[in-house]
Amino acid sequence: MSNNCTIGISARHVHLSKEHADILFGKDYEFTPKPGVEPKGQWAVQERVELIAPKSSFPKMGIICPTRDQTQVEISKTDAFALGLKAPIRMSGDLAGSAGDVIIRGPKGEIHLEEGVIVAKRHVHIGKKFAEAHGISQGQVVKLKVETDERSLVFDDVIARIGGDGDKALVHLDTDEGNAADLPMWSEGEIIAD
Ligand SMILES: [Zn+2]
Repeated sequence: MSNNCTIGISARHVHLSKEHADILFGKDYEFTPKPGVEPKGQWAVQERVELIAPKSSFPKMGIICPTRDQTQVEISKTDAFALGLKAPIRMSGDLAGSAGDVIIRGPKGEIHLEEGVIVAKRHVHIGKKFAEAHGISQGQVVKLKVETDERSLVFDDVIARIGGDGDKALVHLDTDEGNAADLPMWSEGEIIAD
């Protein structure tokens, strides 16, 4: 089986808890998926929030639905520098002791977030068939090779997250990583596991 993968670049965004969504947008508010986006799995919505940090703020942070147990803000290291935050590189959901002391403001209210601001650790979602074909196990560190006109790169430290029966692999990078290789929002690469 080919070791080709899809690469998606995630810009800075917020996952909201139900409690926080109620405060920011009003009780049981129903978010509107972005045009052309199907509301299944995890999906981007049209609504935005303002993120206010010590050094600066981002007036229009995107939101990913559905709501989660805990509010999580994902930014790049460049964003963290601009905001004046020491955001650690973490896997999604691993928020204990992460950066915080930010305000999230929505149309109906605002919250003060004590922690939950991270830089997402780069990772690849791998279907079981792909994983078996290439001998990749849950949590294994693999490499991602990308070829572009001017900035070809091999990324190390890509964490494998195995799920579903599929034969596909989808890498999630942030905008710093994407820009380091001059990647567009969607592109292709190769997974190297050895
Ligand atoms: Zn992901």
